[in-house]
Amino acid sequence: MGTPSDRAPLAERVEELLALGGPLPIVAAGEPVLRRAAEPFDGQLAPALLARFVAALRLTMHAAPGVGLAAPQVGVGLRIAVIEDPAPVPEEVRAARGRVPQPFRVLVNPSYEPVGAARAAFFEGCLSVPGWQAVVARHAEVRLRARDEHGRAVDEVFTGWPARIVQHETDHLDGTLYLDRAELRSLASNASMADLWSQPTPERAASALGFELPGRPGRPGRPGPSGSPGLPGSAS
Ligand code: ZN
Repeated sequence: MGTPSDRAPLAERVEELLALGGPLPIVAAGEPVLRRAAEPFDGQLAPALLARFVAALRLTMHAAPGVGLAAPQVGVGLRIAVIEDPAPVPEEVRAARGRVPQPFRVLVNPSYEPVGAARAAFFEGCLSVPGWQAVVARHAEVRLRARDEHGRAVDEVFTGWPARIVQHETDHLDGTLYLDRAELRSLASNASMADLWSQPTPERAASALGFELPGRPGRPGRPGPSGSPGLPGSAS
């Protein structure tokens, strides 16, 4: 929570990071900044510094590469995140996961609420938990309220993969990591993911690893038809 005495150090911290040049170092789980509620943005960074910081977040997200990055992931406890997903995936994956391209966006002081009760469960990962992925059942559709980098109000509904990204990044600003919401029996190394679980949906993984997908109580992970474009978890 912000107090006047915190403000100068935050701007100084950002200046120090930017002085490094290039992509910013991403902090990993275990760093307390990832577990604290970030401070609402309220002009702690002057407009020019905010613009430079946002550009550095975008550069860092591209370099990782990732589809979103929250300020705490570079050690800055402010409620600011960036998202962008060119969605370079096969059509089958796009259809199953709703992974449509998401243009670059800056989310300042974002919050979200579910729209409807549908949930969607897919593997996801986090740049601050490198090397691992796990299935997270998330709201299939959310209403996002935020400001953009120019202070303009944002009030927009997101579905599909962009809804997942919005939830993941906003959660970071509340000190929540995706693992807090994940089905831990689905935890898989990147090597396992590449070898075994690259299907569009996690149904086979649910069956083999022994975890449940939403909407299928008592029938953990019964495999669907091969290549089914069904959305696990979207029907409750
Ligand atoms: Zn993350």
